[in-house]
Amino acid sequence: MSPARPQQVCVLGATGSIGLSTLDVISRHPERYQVFALSGFSRLDQLLALCLLYRPRYAVVPDARAATFLREALSGSAVAVEVLQGEAGLCDVAAHPEVDTVMAAIVGAAGLAPTLAAVAAGKKVLLANKEALVMSGALFMQAVRNSGAVLLPIDSEHNAIFQCLPTDYARGLAQVGVRRILLTASGGPFRETPLAALGEVTPEQACAHPNWSMGRKISVDSASMMNKGLELIEACWLFDARPAQVEVVIHPQSVIHSLVDYVDGSVLAQLGNPDMRTPISHALAWPERIDSGVAPLDLFAVARMDFQRPDEQRFPCLRLARQAAEAGGTAPALLNAANEVAVAAFLERRIRFPEIAGMIDAVLNAEPVQVVEALEVVLAADARARTLANHWLSRHGR
Ligand code: NAD
Ligand code: MG
Repeated sequence: MSPARPQQVCVLGATGSIGLSTLDVISRHPERYQVFALSGFSRLDQLLALCLLYRPRYAVVPDARAATFLREALSGSAVAVEVLQGEAGLCDVAAHPEVDTVMAAIVGAAGLAPTLAAVAAGKKVLLANKEALVMSGALFMQAVRNSGAVLLPIDSEHNAIFQCLPTDYARGLAQVGVRRILLTASGGPFRETPLAALGEVTPEQACAHPNWSMGRKISVDSASMMNKGLELIEACWLFDARPAQVEVVIHPQSVIHSLVDYVDGSVLAQLGNPDMRTPISHALAWPERIDSGVAPLDLFAVARMDFQRPDEQRFPCLRLARQAAEAGGTAPALLNAANEVAVAAFLERRIRFPEIAGMIDAVLNAEPVQVVEALEVVLAADARARTLANHWLSRHGR
């Protein structure tokens, strides 16, 4: 049964990997979904093309210059799109009364304010922007409870866990018989690279993920396994788990997207081809199911599945993230901010790959962890960590 009126969808980060996959799914179901707003940041030509194709009511760009460019480019077309700008524009469309669903697919801390605006407005929020939840976890989840927003995970692992949990899991993991969450990880492109060679790996090698095609920041995070560290923190908030209840399992084929281990010995898993259109379709249609365009899983082609324990010497970022999860307070926000600066510096070839973890460690050691009682505390921690990371960069970077 499809809804009478198409759902109005706001796609934040429409020009990115997740944004484009979301639009691909939406275009398969025009009777169910309509694009209400799109946002882009640097790829304005692409945003223009998406506006012409999807005819949203609003498009959001970073600043006045970009707004002028887009307005002028659209003026010759038959498409009437209102162009908004900056964080205020993003928050306005995310909380717009006519919007039903918000895809939060901006990368990094830049997505925090608009994602929280969608949550505060009680929207159905499809969360890809894990950094927002990592930074502000307790406040974010409290805002979900206060507004009655429906929060659905897009990260393939968390979407898998969500699918393997009973619908009443919010009663508490122990109450519903969960022993552990098994968070799978591909291990990224450097799973078997000799440790001594990691100092020489390039951004291109780091971004060439064996199984998934993704934006550059999350690709580097996958190579360092900081992505799995952020996902560990994300899982703790989404499912009210303790860090010790979440075990990371390297599974190089990326067919099992995560598992839930129950006290009776049952282990439930969600499997599928590594294509983000599956979790996106799941969350868009939940609790129904719709076609995503993803090919059926061919187990005979997969043939085998392997599992390994992660090596924290190879992947120190995973250890740093687990420590931040256990420390709580502002620690995850500090970790996230230092990582964002480090990844950007690595992509600009200012630091070597192993220095990503070195920089984050230095920032975490320099900055005391504080209790978070308001968003200002999180934002201040984020700003301080960026200052410290940039300071480190000016001394150690190229
Ligand atoms: P991407 O780099 O491909 O796209 C990022 C989007 O954010 C783009 O639309 C860009 O214009 C926008 N953006 C970038 N900086 C911005 C800023 N300062 N202000 C406003 N907008 C800005 O990234 P992606 O791979 O699509 O990832 C998006 C989010 O989804 C990330 O948080 C990532 O961790 C998460 N995620 C991605 C995947 C994946 O398969 N790509 C899987 C799981 C989770
Ligand atoms: Mg993931």
